Amino acid sequence: ALSRPDFQLPRSHEAFVKASRVIPGGVNSPARAFGAVGGEPPFMARAEGAYLYDIDDHKYIDYIGSWGPMIVGHAHPEVRKAVVEALELGSSFGAPTVREIEIAEAVVAASPSIEKVRFVSSGTEAAMSAVRVARGVTGRDKIVKMAGCYHGHIDALLIQAGSAATTLGTPNSPGVTKGAAADTLLCPFNDAQAVAAILEANKGQVAAVLLEPVAGNMGLVPPKPGYLESLRELTEKHGTLLIFDEVMTGFRLSYGGAQERFGITPDLTALGKIIGGGLPAAAYGASSRIMDQVSPVGPIYQAGTLSGNPLAMAAGLSTLKLLREPSFYDRLEARSARLAEGLEKAAHDARVPHIVQRVGSMLTLFFHDGPVHDYEDAKRSDVALFGRFFWEMLARGVYLPCSQFEAAFVSAAHTEADVDHTIAAARESLAAIAG
Ligand code: PMP
Repeated sequence: ALSRPDFQLPRSHEAFVKASRVIPGGVNSPARAFGAVGGEPPFMARAEGAYLYDIDDHKYIDYIGSWGPMIVGHAHPEVRKAVVEALELGSSFGAPTVREIEIAEAVVAASPSIEKVRFVSSGTEAAMSAVRVARGVTGRDKIVKMAGCYHGHIDALLIQAGSAATTLGTPNSPGVTKGAAADTLLCPFNDAQAVAAILEANKGQVAAVLLEPVAGNMGLVPPKPGYLESLRELTEKHGTLLIFDEVMTGFRLSYGGAQERFGITPDLTALGKIIGGGLPAAAYGASSRIMDQVSPVGPIYQAGTLSGNPLAMAAGLSTLKLLREPSFYDRLEARSARLAEGLEKAAHDARVPHIVQRVGSMLTLFFHDGPVHDYEDAKRSDVALFGRFFWEMLARGVYLPCSQFEAAFVSAAHTEADVDHTIAAARESLAAIAG
């Protein structure tokens, strides 16, 4: 293990041994497993604001934020209040509730591309359903996916998948049939010409071009200027739908997500993470014309026992309200820029190969000395160096994503002092690994 000998996690170690007997790898999602950085993960006891506390009584400044949802910080009093109030009225009815209207109206108001929205319970379901709707609406089978983008663990999309699938060296999972993979056409991210060529070669057969408008699952990779515009034009020309997977970027890069920030209107949008305020909720939405083809109005089937769950809707709704406070995103942007600049200077001074890529409150310090535009670039990063950096930071109380191929998330709970502490920790950590 790369872990520092002076940084001990005895209770977490005991928990990890026990967990590994009954849960594969001791975790319920591989991204948590520390597989790429070696060693074992701390087990968490609680969280508040920008901080996590593990069962060994370490306190961390948290830059994962549950992998995106916790944009207002952990255990925010307003969100807690909303969830407790909802809980006292019953946790699930399997029947419509008024709160679902309120949150659907908020989503529709946030995104001009969305006139109707359907709630589901995970980002995986949101992306899967958006793809099914695109196929159902167009009557076409094929979809274009970008290498290094991650859209959940859907068979047809676990092909050159980013996030932990890449971290753990399994971007193409066993168990995905040739049939499930056959209709997935791959393109590099940021290469509109590759998409043009594929659409041309598969005329009239491609239901959708699907991507994270800002990629967060191969580390943070922004779209090149003009890339999203080109995809919009190309898809229109070919009668192909454009799907933005905004599970990470929705309500994060601006209230209206990446589509608002970059001024591009997709046909379908997948949302998740923030929309559930830390409880399991996600959604997909589009124009009424498209969404009215979904069951029970139309024939395209999609359902869920816990969809629109009262607690999840309460958490999501109260989170969205907090995001509408004046200058919420300006403050988040300023704090994130400060962090990115500090990390950049620290890495420069330590003379390690590096580039910090950031859009809004999502960022990655790549151990790579050129711009990272796509999956191939990202994979050329020095992951061993990243692993050492990761443990040095953890030992200094900074909880970063445990993989080079993930974005860090800044929340509104991070203070300027937290950011400055993080930069100071990075200076020490980079000096330690460079030396
Ligand atoms: N799409 C994107 C862009 C994601 O980042 C993720 C999860 N990180 C998903 C889909 C899948 O969401 P979930 O883990 O909630 O199923």
